Amino acid sequence: MSGSTLDLEGPRRRKRGPSAFIPILFILIALLLLPRCQTVPATGETRLTLISTAEEIQLGREADAQIRTTVGVYADQRLQEYLGAVGLKMAEVSERPQLPWCFQVLDDAAINAFAAPGGFIYVTRGILAYCNSEAELAGILGHEIGHVTAKHAVINLSRQQVIQFGFGVLEQVYPELEGISDLAGIGMQLLFLKFSREDELEADELGVRYMIRIGQNPNRLIDVMEMLERLSQARGGGDLPQWLSTHPSPGNRRVNLAAIIEPLDESAFKPEDPQAYLRRLNGLVYGKDPREGYTEGSRFFHPQLRFQHRFPEGWRISNQESSVKASGPDRSAAISITLSEHGEIEAAVRGFFAPPEIAWEGTRSVDVNGNPGEIGEFVLSSDQGLLYGEALFISYNGRIYQIVGYGSKSGWRRHATVVRESLLSFATLNDPEALSVQPLRLEAIALRQSTTLRDYYEQRDCPIDLSALALLNRLDPDTEIPQGQLIKWVTTGQQ
Ligand SMILES: [Zn+2]
Repeated sequence: MSGSTLDLEGPRRRKRGPSAFIPILFILIALLLLPRCQTVPATGETRLTLISTAEEIQLGREADAQIRTTVGVYADQRLQEYLGAVGLKMAEVSERPQLPWCFQVLDDAAINAFAAPGGFIYVTRGILAYCNSEAELAGILGHEIGHVTAKHAVINLSRQQVIQFGFGVLEQVYPELEGISDLAGIGMQLLFLKFSREDELEADELGVRYMIRIGQNPNRLIDVMEMLERLSQARGGGDLPQWLSTHPSPGNRRVNLAAIIEPLDESAFKPEDPQAYLRRLNGLVYGKDPREGYTEGSRFFHPQLRFQHRFPEGWRISNQESSVKASGPDRSAAISITLSEHGEIEAAVRGFFAPPEIAWEGTRSVDVNGNPGEIGEFVLSSDQGLLYGEALFISYNGRIYQIVGYGSKSGWRRHATVVRESLLSFATLNDPEALSVQPLRLEAIALRQSTTLRDYYEQRDCPIDLSALALLNRLDPDTEIPQGQLIKWVTTGQQ
């Protein structure tokens, strides 16, 4: 995941005590006992699934909570409502209208869309920026709805033995200490769950079915595939749009779709208004949002929470919605910064060291660049073996920051010194330039006179390349654009 953020405040902060795992345990036990066949509503097929609809919805809710915490929801109520309206229209004409459908724009610059079981559908703000019309968006949503109505995830989960989705002791006790093992929660696994080619073709066909039912032109789903292909070609295949990396061979899918769509009467589709869609994108954050944390080399800055931190040189830093993590080059040690759910240092220390799996010998008081802290070493026994580490608790701006360095026995021996240095580097962020950093934003501009993108680009400031702007607009830089047409622009200005 890229472009994710650290926002440790408020109700989104996830508490995952052992009680949160009871539903999962229940599902696992139920799964082991009750394999069964079900008819898949969208296709009429009978397939072996191990999960009832109630369990599917429960799995979806668990995944949703993780996705919202790790990736984050884009804070724009109007855009969320718009997405919900477009999505629900199709969900209601699908074979599973009774599901608790939920459509969300994620605060992620990656170009991605995916579905969790039970009707939870996500599009990133990154993919919204690249769409050129509501019908294209409907194509993406229709495809994802198709995965849910055809129960692809549910069937795949059954095949893969859902038991794998259980969590290790380590994560149950300390969800923030992920990253050293390859454990990931359900939500994260779903992000990378690849469906078979057959499943993808089926989701395409179902997407077309739902588009037709609400009068949207299904050719726009083909346009989306072309857009993704152009993007991946432009990026040299190295940095694939994520939707493409989990949705292989769009070329073949296009041929398949074209054969289905060709005999349709285009006059049955409602007239499109791409300009209305572009106006909705006005002000949309483009690219990563530096207000939610950015890095310069090994230094990390969080303007919204007004802190800075220095990680060991050469470590990989990953800024997520509710944590910042860094891992050593050999992945044998890691550091995580999270907010404690406690309001006082003493309570945070007691809470952290409470589980019986952890051994510790008390903490000592430290001054962390003017902020009071407590620091203590520990050894944690997990089902991956023993973890060695040091935890620092800092009271800063009315919150308790929990910064934990940890590693395997050999990893800790190698990295303990640089980790301790890093822990104690936490400091107030006062630099006005860092504090006032702003994300890039999209702007929909109506052309006063006909021109080419290249000519217009030469007259006006734009923080991205002409080629990137052309890709965003899906326009050739030298094609004449008629007067009055809206184009997507990127600006550094405030909203
Ligand atoms: Zn798909």
